Amino acid sequence: MLDMNAFFASVEMRDFPELRGRPVAVTNGLDGTCIITCSYEARAAGIHTGMRLYEARQRCPELVQRAARPEVYAQVSTRIMDALTQVCPDVEVFSVDEAFIDMTASQRLYGTPIRIAYLLRRAVYQASGLLSSIGVSGDKTTAKFAAKQNKPNGFTVIPPWEARQHLKHVPVTALCGIAQGIGRFLAERGVHVCGDMVRLPIGELAKRFGNPGRRIWYMAQGADPEPLHYEVAAPKSIGHGKVMPPDTRSRDVILTYLLHMSVKVCARMRRHDLEAMTYSIALNTRDGWIGSKQRLGIAGDDPRELYQLCLHTLEQCWQGQGVFQVQITALDPMPCKRQLDMFDTQSHAQRQKGQQLFQAVDAINERYGDLTLAPALLLNRSKMPNVIAPSWKPKGHRQSV
Ligand SMILES: [Mg+2]
Repeated sequence: MLDMNAFFASVEMRDFPELRGRPVAVTNGLDGTCIITCSYEARAAGIHTGMRLYEARQRCPELVQRAARPEVYAQVSTRIMDALTQVCPDVEVFSVDEAFIDMTASQRLYGTPIRIAYLLRRAVYQASGLLSSIGVSGDKTTAKFAAKQNKPNGFTVIPPWEARQHLKHVPVTALCGIAQGIGRFLAERGVHVCGDMVRLPIGELAKRFGNPGRRIWYMAQGADPEPLHYEVAAPKSIGHGKVMPPDTRSRDVILTYLLHMSVKVCARMRRHDLEAMTYSIALNTRDGWIGSKQRLGIAGDDPRELYQLCLHTLEQCWQGQGVFQVQITALDPMPCKRQLDMFDTQSHAQRQKGQQLFQAVDAINERYGDLTLAPALLLNRSKMPNVIAPSWKPKGHRQSV
């Protein structure tokens, strides 16, 4: 596994040399209150991901806050993943800054896994100007564990035949994929560190958690059977959300945000030849999320139709209370059939016209940037930050921030 060092913070330090050597914290926009990631200088002061900014400032008054630049991180990530693929074709992009690499096919060409690991790290540096940590082992879980040791710039090799011994005294919850809940289940049965696992019959885990339980039993013994996954799975949903100025009560402003998200959701569906019938339209208010699920007559990807659903939702669910965030999610995206309503020739013609219109809009925006061509109402759209999802992938339908 290759894992970038404090990825977002490192990109900031790469692009703004005055930040180098200083404690840097990255937040979602300058209004963000939660630290997404921070430099190793900040970590040395006890600051960590997820910490509130005011608390971090108390610990480290000289902390420099930077607004995240998700578009840049996405670009850099794509370049890094491409560079890895140049060395080894079998790469599973695990997150925006982590990848599993199967070296098997490259060993005849490049030699030992250790040599390949050096080549990978060099390729990443050449492509991005950034340093990374690498963990080499015989299975995914041990490799990921190894990559976390000796950070930053770690280079950790755990030969597969030593993996079991190596993990013996490691708490089971330190392994990727063993969450607190499973950790409690294991602790109740006397399994605290990986070495305890041999005493627990695999059947007990299988009975409670099915196949993932069986996998955990092997993981703890340095023999994770999970293969690499190269394809991005078909999406279960496609959504976009945006944080608003706190306590927004203007109907027009809220509608502008909803239209903006409608345009983004539909553009992303069209890019991947998907359409959807059911949408969740939600507003985050002081009292929590309000909103509704709405259905189109037939599946589509036209933001004007989606916007109509937003109008319904606002009418039904919103009583003028302050809104902090909007979110629109297509719940059942599926490959486009471009089904037409055969009893309604007028809508038939309209839909065809709509499809032609959006083909042109997409072509222009592809060339000149998102929202070059967009509904006029969006001229007033906010400059509030986009949010990069942890599940972001450089290929396929998730390539969007
Ligand atoms: Mg990382």
